[in-house]
Amino acid sequence: MFASAVFAFRIWVQLPIIEKSLVKVSAQELTALNFAFKQMSKPLHTINYDYAVWDRTYSYMKSSNMSAKRFYEQHEYPDDTFKSLKVDGVFVFNNENELVFSKGFNHDNDQPLVFTFTDFKQYPQNKALSPQRKVALPPIEPQIESPSDVPSKTGVIATQYGPALFSSTTILQSNRTGPIMGYLVFIRLIDKNFIDELSQYTVAGVTMSSLTQDEQNGSGINLDSNVAPTKLTASSTRIVHNIDGKPLFKLVLNHTNTSLPPLIDSSVIILLAELSTLLLLGYLLYSYFLVNPVRKLAVDIEEMDKSREIKKLQYSYRISELVKVATHFNALMGTIQEQTKQLNEQAYIDKLTNIPNRRSFEQRLETYCQLLARQQIGFTLIIADVDHFKEYNDNLGHLAGDEALMKVAQVLTQQFYRAEDICARFGGEEFIMLFRDIPEQPLCHKLEAMINGFKELNLPHPTSKTAKYVTVSFGVCTITANDYAFKSESSVIARQVILAADKALYHAKASGRNQFSKTVMTLEQIEQNNSDPIT
Ligand code: GH3
Ligand code: MG
Ligand code: MG
Repeated sequence: MFASAVFAFRIWVQLPIIEKSLVKVSAQELTALNFAFKQMSKPLHTINYDYAVWDRTYSYMKSSNMSAKRFYEQHEYPDDTFKSLKVDGVFVFNNENELVFSKGFNHDNDQPLVFTFTDFKQYPQNKALSPQRKVALPPIEPQIESPSDVPSKTGVIATQYGPALFSSTTILQSNRTGPIMGYLVFIRLIDKNFIDELSQYTVAGVTMSSLTQDEQNGSGINLDSNVAPTKLTASSTRIVHNIDGKPLFKLVLNHTNTSLPPLIDSSVIILLAELSTLLLLGYLLYSYFLVNPVRKLAVDIEEMDKSREIKKLQYSYRISELVKVATHFNALMGTIQEQTKQLNEQAYIDKLTNIPNRRSFEQRLETYCQLLARQQIGFTLIIADVDHFKEYNDNLGHLAGDEALMKVAQVLTQQFYRAEDICARFGGEEFIMLFRDIPEQPLCHKLEAMINGFKELNLPHPTSKTAKYVTVSFGVCTITANDYAFKSESSVIARQVILAADKALYHAKASGRNQFSKTVMTLEQIEQNNSDPIT
């Protein structure tokens, strides 16, 4: 996304701006070319003017003395003058357009150069070299002309040696009065030297070349036109016209800036690298501060759910919002923990008597049976049943019965000190108890203490045939361990021991109640009884 934004910016904003400024530079180079071409014709014009508006030239034209004329021709136009003035030809015409004097100089070999363009019969268009006015000044009253008004012409003319820059000025006296005595023409060939000089002015490279057919017919842009380039090109051509106005040759300007910078340059790469680094840094910070902690939070919660174990979450988050989430989550977990605890308690506690219920007892009995079968740790199971309780209820009402059951539970639990032993409500007015590995004497002592406890409690039972107070009968079964390799499942022990204790209880009831009846069993007997279908 960043890369496409950078490229879009480069393509639609940056490169067009660069192109516009480069095109502007190209336009300036073309203006410079036109300007340089004009500038280069100025020295030619100046010296041409100096020679034309000069008394010696004037006298030369006026004089009929041949030796004086020769003197002028030889002394005013020696070879050195051509060299120092950078001129290739000098031509003197009279008012009748007749060539009076001409001299050409070859700078390469210092030899005379003969020009043919002055043959107006052959090249009638070259008559345009004459700068003279159509209407001559009145000769009687000579007028002084300002230097700029002295008739003169500059331009380009075709010669047999190639195009040449020319300047022609009417011949006047030094005080610029007439009459006009003809005109003087100086030319400078547009050769390699000329083009090199032009290139130096324009900074960009310039070459001269001949015209195509189309350009000869008038297509192409004139050198002095103000047409600016509209798009970036390697070169531009400008047409130079002959004295008669026809296209003569062209100048090709090789622009310094020919193409746009590449789409991807070092600045784009640096920008992209910077943006990528920024993005990466942002992502790392985002991961470090947000994604990873949230992920860890999710994992912790998931693990908690899987293990069904409620744990508190860590608070070590760097973002305060996550600390808040963890705090609220922990608070919620606290509530759930509390409620779970209550639910667990309700599931294992008897509502009426507030002592462990039958489920709780059965779990403990299973543990005891396993301990017995594997580790030979004996235990004693006691079933306690309230005597004549139906009558108690019938007489004193169900609510009084409930209260009596609560008190019975209290008396029974008083004999329990060890955490592993249990006294639970078995159902109705029956209670069930487990003592692990208890010797006979302390057991009997506990049973007697319970029977005495009810006596002391002295809860009146008006219709009881046993005593005047509420009494309880106990069926006791002790399982002793005698290193017997028990093969059956441990649940067999549980069933058999309850049956045996129940039998003992029946015996205690039958023997007059308010007493305990005790039986002892071994693992071997249990296994035997289990295999005997009658018991
Ligand atoms: P026995 O001495 O032979 O045990 O006679 P019993 O009347 O105690 O025995 P029975 O099984 O005939 O009656 C038990 C009574 O216990 C029946 C019922 O009314 C009473 N009972 C059982 N559970 C509750 C209880 O939760 N609350 C109250 N108030 N009474 C209960
Ligand atoms: Mg009963
Ligand atoms: Mg009973």
